[in-house]
Amino acid sequence: MPVLPGDAPASIERAAAALAAGELVALPTETVYGLAARADDDAAARRIFAAKGRPADHPLIVHVADAEAARAFAADWPVAAQRLTAQFWPGPMSVVVHRRAGVATVAAGSLPTVALRCPDHPVAQALLRAAHAAGVAGVAAPSANRFGRVSPTTAAHVAGEFGDGLLVLDGGACPVGIESAIVDCSRGRPVLLRPGVLTRTALEAAL
Ligand code: AMP
Ligand code: MG
Repeated sequence: MPVLPGDAPASIERAAAALAAGELVALPTETVYGLAARADDDAAARRIFAAKGRPADHPLIVHVADAEAARAFAADWPVAAQRLTAQFWPGPMSVVVHRRAGVATVAAGSLPTVALRCPDHPVAQALLRAAHAAGVAGVAAPSANRFGRVSPTTAAHVAGEFGDGLLVLDGGACPVGIESAIVDCSRGRPVLLRPGVLTRTALEAAL
């Protein structure tokens, strides 16, 4: 399957249909390229672990079109998650909240919690919105590299990693190149699990 121009509506429609059908799609985000599958379908999410060679108990971040879409995966929405997402979404910040029972079990590595992020990349945004319109609640999307290898920041890098059996949306070089911040909001008080590209000071200022 080809590398498709991410700014073409036909590419977005094709990739959204592939996601809706449970297939893998590589997409650009502002951090790195992600290997995406619908998170609300355990069989689809399992394909990510198989393609990457990633252990099944390493939970994936679920990417959503907006905070409203995130609620399909969340059992609750603590005030810390509310404040952080209001400040940093769309953007390179993930929140961990209690997972809605029976949803995204495989994507979450069977944890009772789920990590959620709304990326700020025009191609990722367009794809998430089109996929949502096609019935996809959100997509799990770890970096589009085989387990233990460097995270890709270009479409060519992704194609080189997985070959031409994978549909890749080309959004150019990722502007950030560093992983998202992760804040655990499931424990009563927020805990910074990974600063990523944001600073602790910036995250704390939002709380
Ligand atoms: P990556 O492999 O770069 O996509 O990063 C995913 C990161 O999110 C890993 O460090 C995971 O441990 C973390 N993560 C995903 N889901 C959860 C969760 N439910 N609780 C805590 N950390 C999580
Ligand atoms: Mg990675």
